[in-house]
Amino acid sequence: MVTCNLDVPARALAVGAHPDDVEFGCGATLAKWAAAGCEIHHLICTDGSKGSWDPAEDQARLVAVRQEEQRNASRALGGKGEVVFLGWPDGELESGLRQRWEVAYWIRTLQPDVVFGHDPWRRYRLHPDHRNAGFLATDGIVAARDPHFFPEQNVAPHRPKALLLWEADEPDHAEDVTAVIDRKLAALEAHQSQFESTMKARDEGQLDAFRQRVRDRLADNGRRAGRPAAELFKRISDL
Ligand SMILES: [Zn+2]
Repeated sequence: MVTCNLDVPARALAVGAHPDDVEFGCGATLAKWAAAGCEIHHLICTDGSKGSWDPAEDQARLVAVRQEEQRNASRALGGKGEVVFLGWPDGELESGLRQRWEVAYWIRTLQPDVVFGHDPWRRYRLHPDHRNAGFLATDGIVAARDPHFFPEQNVAPHRPKALLLWEADEPDHAEDVTAVIDRKLAALEAHQSQFESTMKARDEGQLDAFRQRVRDRLADNGRRAGRPAAELFKRISDL
């Protein structure tokens, strides 16, 4: 790793495609920073309405459940900031001007020092929402920082200091999360509707196995950074 542990920022904003993506991608780092006084915010691009293997699932009910789960997950991380839902249909997220307008608006309004997002350049990434949410984070920052983008928003431009991309194709930054693994797990477990489809946890034994997979991944990451446990990112600081 090139760098490890940013100074704790005053405000951070994590941009995820679906409820639960932020917790997988950077939950432990958010928990660490929240405990140190950072204001953490979530911006969830889609409504999560396809997050079920049950063909008979009531999608409107699922959307409401997943929003509540996302708020609970934010609280489990120690978050006291906003949890914003853009509400685009799950699986149909585009990274067009309309969506960029919204992300730029929230970056300007919440004024994060650090923005987190999916790495849109990760090779062989299958899910289009993850690619497009990644581009919305990068393109939203460009629009948010320059005054000639979307002047009708009537919100002052804002330039974050750093962008950290999770699931990075070429990670070059680590955050040591040794002390907050349980908080990441608690936040992931707030997404109970995803136990079957995403976490493959249909009973307590399988849930334990899921927890162990998360711990193992963080430990693997840590070995690459010379730490007991870490989350890894591509860091872009020249914004
Ligand atoms: Zn997702």
